[in-house]
Amino acid sequence: MKERLQEIRERALEQINSTDSLEKLNEVRVSILGKKGELTEVLKGMKDVEPKDRPMVGQIVNETRQAIEEVLENARKELSEKMREIQMKAEVIDVTLPAKKNNVGHSHPNTLALEEIKKIFVGMGYEVVEGPEVEYDYYNFEALNIPANHPAKDEQDTFYINDKIVLRTQTSSVQVREMEKGKLPLRMISPGRVYRADEVDATHSPCFHQVEGLVIDENITFADLKGTLVEFAKEVFGPETKVKFRPHHFPFTEPSAEMDVSCFKCGGKGCRMCKGEGWIEILGCGMVHPHVLEMSGIDTDKYTGFAFGVGLERIALLKYEIDDMRLLYENDARFLKQF
Ligand SMILES: [Zn+2]
Repeated sequence: MKERLQEIRERALEQINSTDSLEKLNEVRVSILGKKGELTEVLKGMKDVEPKDRPMVGQIVNETRQAIEEVLENARKELSEKMREIQMKAEVIDVTLPAKKNNVGHSHPNTLALEEIKKIFVGMGYEVVEGPEVEYDYYNFEALNIPANHPAKDEQDTFYINDKIVLRTQTSSVQVREMEKGKLPLRMISPGRVYRADEVDATHSPCFHQVEGLVIDENITFADLKGTLVEFAKEVFGPETKVKFRPHHFPFTEPSAEMDVSCFKCGGKGCRMCKGEGWIEILGCGMVHPHVLEMSGIDTDKYTGFAFGVGLERIALLKYEIDDMRLLYENDARFLKQF
């Protein structure tokens, strides 16, 4: 039995020394010390040993077991260390590699212009209201005093989904929806995408953006309209900006006007920016037509209001001195990066 134990011990050490992975080491452990392991088998044979020899044999078995366990533990530690080193080497960071460039995007000129417009009007107590881009003909035209046979409703200018539904041609439809709710007074701007059957060129696109404003309250006059829009122009184009109102016609306002601002580039002397005129047309505006108010159920003896509409692209093009509207939609990162 003594020889048997010696043999087991030597073979175990040999096996342990030749293992190169923790899994194999575990296999060796099980094959010797496990329930069905060689050493365990030897212990089972203890009943055949002479009673007087048992303490001595038992001691040898224990010594063998301890010796094997010790070698096993050392081998396990060594292997773990080796594995860790291999892993560390694999994960090593080469500090001489060039850094990855972190490309952070930024807002589109349209977004920048919209944020600025919103800030100005929210500062004056306006609410920002959005509405559907696919709109009933009624909200887009009729409720805005544009009856069925009105030239402004020309099918050539509009994308129709069917007889009653269109892609909105203006965000004024959102104003009608708000007026109908009957919660007065009203101070709102409605920014958003609008659609017209326009050919693409330097100043036209079948899809562009508008910001329309509406104020309805008691005692609102044209003076309120002027005061508000003069302030807006100065905020956008600088405190020196002068404004000029020219009479115009819109079906939904009466009286109506177009507003020009003095050229912020030349101060009014005339340059390429203002095509030599010293003035730049910015927006359309007017007092809300009483018929429009009545159609939305507003008492015209008590309430009056003004409205205005500005093309978002127009402001972005002027502000950033971009001379072709198409550049805003081509999404050429080299161009957009400049703003
Ligand atoms: Zn100019």
